[in-house]
Amino acid sequence: MVTKTSRNLTKIKLRLLWENGKRCAICGKRIKDFDDLTVDHIVPVAKGGQNVIENCQLAHKDCNGEKRDLPPDMYDQLRKYKRKHALKLKLYRIFQIW
Ligand SMILES: [Zn+2]
Repeated sequence: MVTKTSRNLTKIKLRLLWENGKRCAICGKRIKDFDDLTVDHIVPVAKGGQNVIENCQLAHKDCNGEKRDLPPDMYDQLRKYKRKHALKLKLYRIFQIW
């Protein structure tokens, strides 16, 4: 059954894709697989967050799952850690090539 909420989410997903491309808001990496793409609520719906584009961002299924269990301040740390880590991995790859 297609509910109003799921229709809204699809609309939001498409708009986020159009505006930001397939990039994960949590780890900053590209989301290669469409099946791996989820809409993450910045303020969780369970905590009163709304199904509006301002409260939504695209994220990997895994990243979204990792975030779900964390309180908001920890989430910020996870995000920073993941970005830092991504840079390290990138540098490592570059140096391996050179
Ligand atoms: Zn991610």
